[in-house]
Amino acid sequence: MFLFRINSLFKTLRFRLMLWNISVVLISVVLTLIALRTSFRVTLLRETDQLLREDAIEIELAANAMHPDLNAIRAEIERHTASHKHRGLFVQLYDKNKKPFFSSLDLEGIPLPINPVRISNTLQTSEGFRFLDKSLQGKVAKDFLGFRVGSRMDLVEEDVESLSWLMLASMGFVVLIAPVGGYILAVQATKPIADIINTTSRLRPQNLTERFIIKGTGDELDRLTLTINSFLDRIAAFIQKKREFVANAAHELRSPLTAIGAASELALARDRTPEEYRETLGEISDKCDHFRLLINQLLLLAETEAGANIPHHVIQMDCIIEKSYDMFKDVASQQHIHFKLDSTSPALVLGEARQIQQVVNNLIDNALKFTPEGGTIVVELYKEASKIVLNVSDTGVGISKEDQSKVFDRFFQADRSHTKNAEALGGNGLGLSICKAIVESMGGTISVTSTLEKGSTFTITLPLVAPV
Ligand code: ADP
Repeated sequence: MFLFRINSLFKTLRFRLMLWNISVVLISVVLTLIALRTSFRVTLLRETDQLLREDAIEIELAANAMHPDLNAIRAEIERHTASHKHRGLFVQLYDKNKKPFFSSLDLEGIPLPINPVRISNTLQTSEGFRFLDKSLQGKVAKDFLGFRVGSRMDLVEEDVESLSWLMLASMGFVVLIAPVGGYILAVQATKPIADIINTTSRLRPQNLTERFIIKGTGDELDRLTLTINSFLDRIAAFIQKKREFVANAAHELRSPLTAIGAASELALARDRTPEEYRETLGEISDKCDHFRLLINQLLLLAETEAGANIPHHVIQMDCIIEKSYDMFKDVASQQHIHFKLDSTSPALVLGEARQIQQVVNNLIDNALKFTPEGGTIVVELYKEASKIVLNVSDTGVGISKEDQSKVFDRFFQADRSHTKNAEALGGNGLGLSICKAIVESMGGTISVTSTLEKGSTFTITLPLVAPV
């Protein structure tokens, strides 16, 4: 249990943020320490070198000024080294045979560097000392080869060490408070996420009313909250639509079932003649057809919307249009409606021939239903850029502006008060929603423009496939 808790703590964003914060602080502290220590050491070294060069100039000037009084030179050098004892300064004078002629005061028991003098006039470090072996110029050069002036390096190192300890102590304090700071930071940063988790866990499909509070800071978390809120709006609207759909479907399915039940009960209520039974069975068979059609439509709608295995073949749209035209031309002439076809060929699209045929048939069937005698229906197919456009226009009753936005909704039927024989037209308001689902599954669009009493034009666009 305890291990499980520890394990889940490690997985929290809060913990990881805290860990990141501590790591970043630690790395920066270590890097800063190294950088400060190095630059302090380099500065001290430069300063030491500069002082040694100045010492060398002073010694050379004094030696030349006091020559040939060797005692005076010695006294001056001893005075100079004594006054710079805190730096661990020493001076050695070399005779012409490179032998030390004189060494300044000993450095409290610390032996001076013993490596042989090399008059190179450059600074070097050896045996814990920084020193300069310099030749002598002027009259004093007659008696001496040169001199070595140097100072203790361990004093410089001591300074560097004590500063390093000081920095380490103050940075240690920063490292100690880093986890606390990191924790506070992590809690602050993850609090809105924790709120989102809590609220989300309360949401249920039956109750999607709750929304997240937008703080108005405009930061990423605010944007995330906004996105989740609008996503919830869409889900709520979707669920509401599904509910309405199920209610409508149940209602539509109940009507033919009730009719079948009523007809059979009536037939069974008493003995009937064979003609009466035949009539009732005919009625039942009609209702069954209606029932089957409705179920097929609902299944098709569900399949198309889910994108369930719709095979996409190359279809010749002009052939589809011609087939529909041939199918409806006799009905149109019986209803005394002018029926025209205006089509380009070939027009290739990707989809399922049976389904797109159903879309075209549905549009023409609707046009025939809502166009009075003497009217005109035109089916027009043309190519435009990378798509094909199909227009089915009629001079029928038209659709009001308000209803135009709803005709593609499931089970929607527009106001039919302007339509003659409205009762006989039937339908269930699913045809256009099926058309929309099929067309959209093919990557196309469907729309309508209409004027009441003048007519309607349904337009479909589909992506064109270039002939191979
Ligand atoms: P239905 O099976 O009821 O015709 P549709 O989905 O095919 O269902 O059509 C929905 C509604 O849109 C119809 O009930 C009708 O009111 C309106 N409609 C469709 N096509 C036309 C048209 N060409 N002219 C006028 N109204 C139309």
